[in-house]
This record gives sequence, C-alpha cells and structure tokens, in this order.
Amino acid sequence: MSTIESGVPTPAKASPLLTDQSVAKQLLFGNVLEENLFPYPAINERDREALGMIVESIDRFLEGKQADFARWDREARQPDEFVQSLRELGLFGLIIPEEFGGLGLSNAAYARVLAQTSSYDSSVSLTIGAHSSIGMKGLLLFGTAEQRARYLPKLATGEMIAAFCLTESGAGSDAAAIRTAAKRNADGSFTLNGEKLWITNGGIADFYTVFARTDGPEGKVTAFLVEAAWPGVSHGAHEDKMGIRASCTTTVAFNDVRVPAANVLGEVGKGFKVAMGILNNGRTGLGGGAVGGMKALIRRSVAQAQERKQFDRPIAEYGLVREKIAQMTVECFAAESAVWMVAHYIDSGCEDYSVEAAITKVFASEAMQRTAYESLQIAGGNGYMRELPYEQYVRDARILPIFEGTNEILRLYIALSSLKDVGASLKELKSAVGSIFNDPIKGFGVLSGYAERRFARATGLGAAVKVSAPVAPALRPLVDIYESYARATARVAEGVLRKYGKGISGQQHAQRRIADLMIDLFVGLCVISRADSIIRSDPASAAQVTDIAKVFTHQARRRMVRNVRGLSHNEDQSIEALAGAILEKGRYPWDVL
Ligand SMILES: Cc1cc2nc3c(=O)[nH]c(=O)nc-3n(C[C@H](O)[C@H](O)[C@H](O)COP(=O)(O)OP(=O)(O)OC[C@H]3O[C@@H](n4cnc5c(N)ncnc54)[C@H](O)[C@@H]3O)c2cc1C
Repeated sequence: MSTIESGVPTPAKASPLLTDQSVAKQLLFGNVLEENLFPYPAINERDREALGMIVESIDRFLEGKQADFARWDREARQPDEFVQSLRELGLFGLIIPEEFGGLGLSNAAYARVLAQTSSYDSSVSLTIGAHSSIGMKGLLLFGTAEQRARYLPKLATGEMIAAFCLTESGAGSDAAAIRTAAKRNADGSFTLNGEKLWITNGGIADFYTVFARTDGPEGKVTAFLVEAAWPGVSHGAHEDKMGIRASCTTTVAFNDVRVPAANVLGEVGKGFKVAMGILNNGRTGLGGGAVGGMKALIRRSVAQAQERKQFDRPIAEYGLVREKIAQMTVECFAAESAVWMVAHYIDSGCEDYSVEAAITKVFASEAMQRTAYESLQIAGGNGYMRELPYEQYVRDARILPIFEGTNEILRLYIALSSLKDVGASLKELKSAVGSIFNDPIKGFGVLSGYAERRFARATGLGAAVKVSAPVAPALRPLVDIYESYARATARVAEGVLRKYGKGISGQQHAQRRIADLMIDLFVGLCVISRADSIIRSDPASAAQVTDIAKVFTHQARRRMVRNVRGLSHNEDQSIEALAGAILEKGRYPWDVL
C-alpha cells in the first residue's frame, strides 16, 4: 500500500466571490445572485492533481474489499489493522494544512474524497469524516496557534483520531440543553463531569471536542479540547446500530476530568457558536459522501437491469425500470451540483453559507434515501438478500437525515434564518415609508436594496429582476421558471410574515413549505449553472445534461406550485386536529371488527 503524497504546490485560494451575500437567503427577497451562481466553479488545478492521486490510492486500497465490508458490518467492527491502513494512506490528514503534515485539501476536494470512500463503504467514510468534518474541525476553525501546533501534526498522521462530543441523553436536536458541566477551578483550569451519547469514533478517538456548560446549569456553553488519555475520561461499548455498523459509536464519559485553561476552544461561553460553526462547515462532507453512495448504486443498478431478464427481455428495457435509472441520475447530478457549489462558497471565504450548507445536507441525504430504496427495488428479491449490498446501502443511508442536525430541524433553520432577514427589511420598509413622504432624499437613503425594490414594486416603478448570465439557449426557459418562482417565493414569504409576524416561529407547516421552496430554487439554479458549464466544455454530454436540467426543473416546478399554493390553501388545521386527537387517544382507535 502506498502513502498518499501530496507533492503539489500549496493551494491557490479559490477565486473570491463577487458578493458575500447568501444566495439562498436572497432568493427569499426574489433575487437571484447570479454572480455567485454563474459560471459553475471548477476545482482548482492543485486540488485536481492531488485528487487524481488520492482517488487512485483509495481505489487501489478499497477495491476488492466488499466481502470484508459486509463481514465487518455483520460483526459491527472495523479491525485495528484496517484503521491503521487508513492512517498510512494519509486519510486522517486530508484537510489539515501542509505545514502541520496534512494534505491541505480544500472543502471541495475533501468532499470528493469522501464521495470516493462512500462508493465502497459508508463506515469508512464515517471514520474519516467524523475525524475531519467535526472531530477536529473546531481546532482548525477556532484553535489558537499554540493549540494547532500542539495537536494538528498528530491529528494529520492519525496518531490521534478525533471525535465530536455534543449530544447527550437529554440534548439531541435541542443541543443547547446539554448538562455536562465544566466548573472553573482557582488555577483557571476546568473540571468536567457528564456523559455524551452516540459519539462517532467515541471508542477509537484520542482527541475529543467537548461541549459543556461552564459554571452551573444556567451557565453558557464552552468548547474544550480533551484528550482520551486524561484521568477520568472513558467510553462505553460499541453501539449495536441499524447501519454504518462497522463505524465506532459509543458513549463518552467525563468523571472529574481536569482540563487546563489552555484547552478551551474559542472563547469561554461561546461554545454554541463553535458547535454550529463546525457543523455548518462540515456539512458538505456528508453531502459528498451521499453523492459517492448514489454513484455506486447507479452503477450497480445499471448492471443489474441489463443482466436480469424477465418476460424474455432485460428489465432495463421496461419503462418503469428506466424511469428509476433516470430519476437516480437526475437526483445525483442535482445533489452533486449543489454540494460542490457550496464547497466553493466555503473555499472562497464566503461567510454566510450556513443556509446553503443546510440545503445541501437535506437534499443530498434525501436523494440518497430515494436512490437506495429504488436501487434495491430494481434488484427485486435479490436486493432484499444479505448476499448483495443493496440492503446495507439502505440501512447505512438511513442515518443521513438524522445526524449532523435532523432534516426537520434544518428545514426550520433554512426557513427561519432567511425569514428573519426579510422581516428586518419589512420593518425597515415600514419606518422608511413615512420618511420618504416627509423627506424623500433622507427616506430613500435608509432603504436597503430589498426595501427599495419592494417600494418600487408597490408604487409600480419596479422592474422584474432578470438573470443576465448568458446561459445556453436550451436552458433559458428553465431559468425563467426559477426567476418566476423566486418572485413567487418572495411574495409568499412576505405574506406569511405579514400574517403571522413573530408568531411565524410557531408555524412549522408554513416554515416547511418555505424551506422546500428554497431547496428547489437553490438546488435547481445549481443544476442549471452546472449543466450550462458542461454544455460549453463537453458538447457530447449536452443532450443528457439538458435533459437532466429539464427533468429536475419541471419536477421542481410542480413541487413549487404545490408549496406556494399550500401556504394559503391547505389542510393544516385538520392535520393538527387529527394529530392532537391521536396523541390524546394514544393509539389508532379504529378496527374493522
Ligand atoms: C449513528 C449516530 C452517530 C452520531 N454521531 C454523533 C457524534 O459524533 N457527535 C454527536 O454529538 N452526536 C452524534 N449523534 C447524535 C445526533 O446528532 C442526534 O441523534 C441528532 O442530533 C438528533 O437528536 P436525537 O436523536 O436526540 O433526536 P430528537 O432531538 O429527540 O428528535 C426526535 C425527532 O423529533 C424531531 N424534532 C425534535 N425537535 C423538533 C422541533 N423543535 N421541531 C420539529 N421536530 C423536532 C426531530 O427532527 C426527530 O425527527 C449521532 C447519532 C447517531 C444515531
């Protein structure tokens, strides 16, 4: 086995974006920030070279290990020698800067590596991903120079494996409810007590990023760097899970653990910000993994559909099977286009990307669910048998909408954090309207871009915002659809804010619809941008990517029609009443007897 050697120049920073505004949030204002969408970003030369070597090494190492992965899945373990090989391959140093012994890959290149490992086995990606995406990401993002120098070299070689310790039995989605306590001692150190639950790499990690309440239950959250070897740190047994069974998930307990002041990560009391910063930054890794899984399943399904004959013909000739192959391809392309667009935002130094990152996590994880389900369906009864890997893909994929923020919580986040900005502009609009009539020059001066356009629209002076990027003619009618639904989404967003005001935070059905509109708009625009760049660079693929863009956009339009209309015409009251009744009865109360 060979070690991956970077042997390539230091990465050039990706081209800066023209604007640091959030593309997704701007959609809720009816704006398409085309400068951040077109042209579709290319992977930089340095990453492309490094990726070629890394992908080849991964293929050489993981190819032919399918029987081992199936056995380790049954036995729920990843042998030490295998983890040692991952170290030797350099897979724990992917995103650590070269000066500390890592490969210094960009977010985009890292996501591509996880796509490759996921095409073989999700547990392998989890072991690497929990280390890089969340376990030591906090040290990279928030660590001091001294902390980085102390730990990054060991984390780069895998001498130390990292894990992220946030969840507790009483604090899952509500991460702010953690009870692990960090009491400050007279010498400035802290004493840590508590237990964390379902920690990926919990049993093999040497380095934990731990979140705890500083000074009492009402205290604020602080992040700490904790070594597994310190007195009082222990972990529980490997959990018996539904999927990703070979990856190591355990409890991690802290019993009077003394943590030096030098191991506080970020500022005392600012740990929640650290946790969210890590999770937002790490989400493209999960998206990349999902894309790798989808590509592997498409390859298998194609072979299966061509080999399997029924009614004297390969099942690949039947429309209902072809529909599944085409749909998987559309969803994989869409997820891939969105994931690498967001990775580019992060690599370009864009700061406001958390909504886009949440969108890619929700979309890619659900696309992977559908792909795993349909791929198994194409394999029929064979797919249900353990001899083939389809059932493992279904089990492994099931975690994706649950961890690193459930998809429900992320949908609420997508909607609420974007609506917040619209709400602020509406308030500004209201106060500025009076000033405009009393003092037009001063009044217009205080209006934001949105409020100005909104005012212009209300007074009939506004023109519709058009995407001016010169997209391929076949894609232009599709761009018109996104422009039109961005305006419709802005209208309904404003409508729900006027209707509910601050009460919108309690209206989850409306939030879900707004989030789904934003997901379709953002992912769809990424699809158009990528299809456009492929049409230019690879004319032989033009027909297929145009078809992908058409299928995605028309399916998205049907969903958007439903979601726009659903904000005013829906059965939400009946749904709420029914859920209430069943919850009260505690069961389904009818029978045919
Ligand atoms: C295999 C595995 C590995 C994991 N790895 C790690 C790790 O490495 N580090 C770590 O810290 N954690 C880890 N976790 C924990 C994971 O992040 C949590 O499971 C996740 O955040 C959800 O929390 P919960 O399971 O307690 O679900 P809950 O928060 O109890 O949610 C249950 C359901 O209620 C929904 N829900 C909750 N609140 C709301 C709301 N306000 N509105 C609408 N719906 C709501 C949720 O979406 C979900 O469907 C892991 C979990 C698993 C299963």
